[in-house]
Amino acid sequence: MYAPGDVRFEERDDPTIDEPTDAIIRMSATCVCGSDLWPYRGAQDFDAPAPFGHEYVGIVEEVGSEVSTVRPGQFVVGSFIASDNTCPNCRAGYQSACVDRRSMAAEGAQAEMLRVPLADGTLVATPEVPDDAMLPSLLAASDVLGTGWFAAVAAEAGPGRTVAVVGDGAVGLLGVLAARELGAERVVAFSRHESRQKLALEFGATDIVEERGEEGVGRIKDLTDGVGADSVLECVGTDESFKQAIASTRPGGTVGYVGVPHGVSLGAPELFGPQVGLRGGGAPVRRFLPELLELVWNGQIDPGKVFDLTLPLSEVAEGYRAMDERRAIKTLLQP
Ligand SMILES: [Zn+2]
Repeated sequence: MYAPGDVRFEERDDPTIDEPTDAIIRMSATCVCGSDLWPYRGAQDFDAPAPFGHEYVGIVEEVGSEVSTVRPGQFVVGSFIASDNTCPNCRAGYQSACVDRRSMAAEGAQAEMLRVPLADGTLVATPEVPDDAMLPSLLAASDVLGTGWFAAVAAEAGPGRTVAVVGDGAVGLLGVLAARELGAERVVAFSRHESRQKLALEFGATDIVEERGEEGVGRIKDLTDGVGADSVLECVGTDESFKQAIASTRPGGTVGYVGVPHGVSLGAPELFGPQVGLRGGGAPVRRFLPELLELVWNGQIDPGKVFDLTLPLSEVAEGYRAMDERRAIKTLLQP
């Protein structure tokens, strides 16, 4: 990305093993993330030009001398944060806060080849090399599925709970799927877009609310005896969406927030009154990867449905445009 709105496909040097804990993977698929749209829209600074992309699946090409859990030829999935998976934060299930964390976005996963630092702690191999038909769902596990899953876990979605999901992007839609898989009784999706409503229902939403803000909160209250949802997933990251999420939660309920905040201002008075729990941040996707890959591998879930546009990597600029203009929910790129 050279500037907001200016994405180019160009030759870069192949990555190399820089540290003995690195792996190099040949990408089978990559994609554009909703969070890539913040800098694309000029809402987040970056040092241009910069490589982009942090979601990846592929075949291990080469490993450093200290890598022992993956080997060349294996198909692997990793999270958008590389982690050692051994430090105290990792052992507590917060690999996204690994004391040695590395940003995969800095490596630039929208590419043919990718260096993955801390390969042993970051990558999870599938039992075999999958069919192409499974690639979208495995790729979804790299970020959007894992992030939606974390939002649901953080919001304490589970049996008997009523869950509301703010945001109908890929993460929100997969938050719906996660809430249902975790056993939620009722899942309300906020969405005003027909194609996204349809997908939310396919993923297990029981109700759709088209209204936003106070009106949307009113609808949630109507559905919950006037008190609000037990669990609310905040999957957008704007001031309006945060406030809508908190106001939609019943006292004693919990908000799981995973939308990267932009322009959010919440003061203590706004948090004191509602008496809701808040947990979230950058999702520790690595914690959930083994379980999520198994669900995909067994055909129990099909999160790859969030990809509604597939393009060759060389047309990456169109992939960004389509998502920016909301013509596509999520763009899969084929290297
Ligand atoms: Zn760690």
